[in-house]
Amino acid sequence: MDYQHFFAKRIADLKAEGRYRVFADLERIRGRFPVALNYRDGQTHEVVVWCSNDYLGMGQNEEVVAAAQDVLRKCGAGAGGTRNISGTNHYHVLLEEELADWCGKDAALLFTSGYVANQTTLSTLGATLPGCVYFSDEFNHNSMIEGIRHGRSQKHVFRHNDPESLAEALSAYPKETPKIVAFESVYSMDGDIAPLAELCDVAQAHNAMTFLDEVHAVGMYGAEGSGVAERDGVRGRIDIIQGTLAKAVGVVGGFVAASASCIDYVRSFGPGFIFSSSMPPATAAAALASVQYLRRHPELRERHQERAATLKARLTALGIPVLPSVSHIVPVMVGDAAACKKASDLLLTQHGIYVQPINYPTVPVGTERLRITPTPLHDDAMMDHLVQAFVSVWDALDLHKVKKAG
Ligand SMILES: *Cc1c(COP(=O)(O)O)cnc(C)c1O
Repeated sequence: MDYQHFFAKRIADLKAEGRYRVFADLERIRGRFPVALNYRDGQTHEVVVWCSNDYLGMGQNEEVVAAAQDVLRKCGAGAGGTRNISGTNHYHVLLEEELADWCGKDAALLFTSGYVANQTTLSTLGATLPGCVYFSDEFNHNSMIEGIRHGRSQKHVFRHNDPESLAEALSAYPKETPKIVAFESVYSMDGDIAPLAELCDVAQAHNAMTFLDEVHAVGMYGAEGSGVAERDGVRGRIDIIQGTLAKAVGVVGGFVAASASCIDYVRSFGPGFIFSSSMPPATAAAALASVQYLRRHPELRERHQERAATLKARLTALGIPVLPSVSHIVPVMVGDAAACKKASDLLLTQHGIYVQPINYPTVPVGTERLRITPTPLHDDAMMDHLVQAFVSVWDALDLHKVKKAG
């Protein structure tokens, strides 16, 4: 086997398909969100970032940065171990208490990322609950799919956001069979939101556990911002709420919140929790400050929703094909990988606007898109500039527009 040749060939294939990923080399500037420096062609260019998952700009929030700085000075850089062997810092404990309270659950457990939280929790439960069967929404994130795969139990995929399809799959099993229903609240590529109450009704009727990924909702929905389950008043019916600290919370890390016994179980049996060193104390402190801030600042969420609604309306009015999303995510459909990349390149090089192209396998072929994530810190002038740039790029590349009725 010529290993190097194999690698090079597969990469060449990716490039030929227009799917080769090129990172935008950015340097974020504290206090100037959403502006960043883009290192390109041996120079730096100021760009406005319109595709960050730091949905509320909390990564730059003064209270968050100050907390990180204080605890970095106080405790140093790393945690010093796994949680079990000298790596539990008091800030981890405080953060877990805060997360549990925020989600309305008895307890919470931290992971190094949201990915690991999904992967470890789902695989641990599926592998250890005797005869467990998974029921997974067809659009679930890769981290859940990997968790389910690792659990090596039977699995059924139900139609996206479809309680009837779930009911049909569940009804093939007796009540005594342990079952886990896994789904998301906000789906990040289309921006649609799951019918949580209906899915819970079905799961409950079949005595199944519910596992909800709130990664794209944490910080942004509900009065205190813990997610769509809070907004919809169904937190008590979700057995396990999973979230990230890396998106709207603005830091890094993941968590699950659940009953005391469930959390103790995952803590005691989950390899991805047990065998990995814990996040730095300063990171935990920053996330803690962010969550506390988010709970107290509903106006951030109102402004966020207003910005997204305004941008959707403005682009739609000009015939730019915005997918009708009910969340803060603004997907603009291009439908072709190469054209999507070209549009993104033009926005960056001609207009100083950074929107990453989203291609297969993140989305199905033919639904390639530019996914815009306006934040409360994108002001009117930035939005004017974005809208003009989109119109100019759409004309330059002769991309598909939606004709207005009449
Ligand atoms: C980003 C993402 C994750 C993983 O979270 P990280 O903290 O980034 O590892 C999990 N689920 C969904 C739906 C995501 O989009």
